[in-house]
Amino acid sequence: MTLVVQKFGGTSVGSVERIQKVAQRVYKTAQEGKQVVVVVSAMGKTTDELVTLAQQVSDQPSRREMDMLLSTGEQVSIALLSMALQELGQPALSLTGAQVGIVTETAHSRARILEIKRYRVQRHLDKGEVVVVAGFQGISSSEDLEITTLGRGGSDTSAVALAASLQADFCEIYTDVPGILTTDPRIVPEAALMSEITCDEMLELASLGAKVLHPRAVEIARNYGLTLVVRSSWSDEPGTKVISPLAQSRSLSGLEIGKAVDSVQLDTSQGQVALLRVPDSPGIAGQLFGEIATQDVDVDLIIQSIHEGNTNDIAFTVQRDVVKTAEAVASAIAPSLRTSDQPNEAEVMTKPKIATVAITGAGMIGRPGIAAKMFNTLAEANVNIRMISTSEVKVGCVIEEADGDRAVNALCQAFDLKSSPVSPHAEKNDHPPVRGVALDMNQAQVAMLHVPDYPGRAAKIFGRLAEEQISVDMIIQSQRSRLVNDIPSRDIAFTVSQADLEITQKTLNQLLPEIGAQEILLDQEIAKVSLVGAGMIGNPGVAAKMFSSLSEEKINIQMITTSEIKISCVVSKSQGQTALQVIHKVFDLGIN
Ligand code: ADP
Ligand code: ASP
Ligand code: MG
Repeated sequence: MTLVVQKFGGTSVGSVERIQKVAQRVYKTAQEGKQVVVVVSAMGKTTDELVTLAQQVSDQPSRREMDMLLSTGEQVSIALLSMALQELGQPALSLTGAQVGIVTETAHSRARILEIKRYRVQRHLDKGEVVVVAGFQGISSSEDLEITTLGRGGSDTSAVALAASLQADFCEIYTDVPGILTTDPRIVPEAALMSEITCDEMLELASLGAKVLHPRAVEIARNYGLTLVVRSSWSDEPGTKVISPLAQSRSLSGLEIGKAVDSVQLDTSQGQVALLRVPDSPGIAGQLFGEIATQDVDVDLIIQSIHEGNTNDIAFTVQRDVVKTAEAVASAIAPSLRTSDQPNEAEVMTKPKIATVAITGAGMIGRPGIAAKMFNTLAEANVNIRMISTSEVKVGCVIEEADGDRAVNALCQAFDLKSSPVSPHAEKNDHPPVRGVALDMNQAQVAMLHVPDYPGRAAKIFGRLAEEQISVDMIIQSQRSRLVNDIPSRDIAFTVSQADLEITQKTLNQLLPEIGAQEILLDQEIAKVSLVGAGMIGNPGVAAKMFSSLSEEKINIQMITTSEIKISCVVSKSQGQTALQVIHKVFDLGIN
């Protein structure tokens, strides 16, 4: 018998009428002879209202009490939906997360699912009942049986985890938009519906601010090869299919805490070119990568560091056989960037042979310790990191070629991986170069200036932040090495969520004397705009087009990072929405 998990979000169960509509849809599915497990969110804005209530009582309520409070929202909607189903003559019953046995870690307000017991749900399904489960909540594995929540937006994760555990045929996420759109329709009304998207692309988009799916839900679907569909609660249109890799046989215990790192990859086919001290004004990245694309050179990693004074460094890697071409382009541009008051600026630095070593794995999302562990492992193996580039599911480091094997061996040991697959260079594929764009306005930029350049400093900084449970993103290290008190030093910049800014600042201030850095710069007025597409691999020119479109709107790029399927730029907060609209338009993603 077909088993389906259907999840309905807050808006979809926002009123009695809507709950009745949902009941009809569920009833119809059951009438088709399918077994149905329904997961619901709290009604409408209930969770937000509960948060506001708590704030009226306490400035910093304990996470435990917040979980106790917020988990009540879902308890209302499951009961009402079950009643509505029963009214239609459909046998149904509601169960809280604890009653199902959605067992989680104790980490309140961000608990990961360890395991979901199957017997109770299965027993009711076998009796022909629809089981209505409260999303977003679980029960801790500790003796105390604490009520936990999975983090805001976590009902998606409840639904997908249930589908994986029950080995459902598919999981449908019903929401208030027709499916996954090319970008957030509230900012870009002409956002278009996608008929499909790969899990990898969705994982990046979801983590980069596309709120339509909880990133951890995508992670589970990907790990268990589950078929996931996002569609509208108001229509019968097919919505968007999230394409998972082939189903793997994977243990269902430790559901969300399996190995964080799936593979370590070494690529020794690359060289690095950097353009140093370019003026901090719109247009230069666009010009540089535009020229490079004209030469049909595919650029792999791109990073642009924060500006020191009023100049930037832009560094990138390309295949070795085209390093000379890329260098020539950079050298041709450099003189035009020198201004009369800065005649010695804009210099090209080339390193024809470098290696990149990367760790990948969807399980590293929201686990700040993983990147830190990588840096620490490299430091202990005495490997100096030249460039760092992170995405949600990958941390890549550019290192000296001679250090490659040592780095891989150390990382395989540290992350308990047997083989060390040498990365096949990512292959051209049939996916569109740009699938969607996303905007994240909740980040802040942090820079640590003049950090002495020796192995271990990245490990120290990010290790300490990880201890405080602070997730960092877009870690960038400047290319320019300067002598400070005769010690070569570099700047390191990264982004953190604004909510973590205060604790980040405190932690870094304590660390400053210890690592001998000179200054910390913070900027809250930033927005991160990102573009995602699996088909950008082997398609030169995507980055250039993005950068040029921003410069045409006079939008200055403060930071750049890339991964194989993503390019992210930090711009000023006031220009974030315009940046998103411009990029969406230039790639022709909207409804015509
Ligand atoms: P639910 O309550 O059903 O879980 P959410 O509000 O969490 O719904 O997520 C759906 C909302 O996500 C949409 O109403 C839309 O405003 C927003 N959104 C942001 N980015 C996207 C995107 N790329 N595609 C679709 N919706 C998006
Ligand atoms: N009700 C919870 C929230 O608003 C969970 C969810 O809707 O997914 O965050
Ligand atoms: Mg949601």
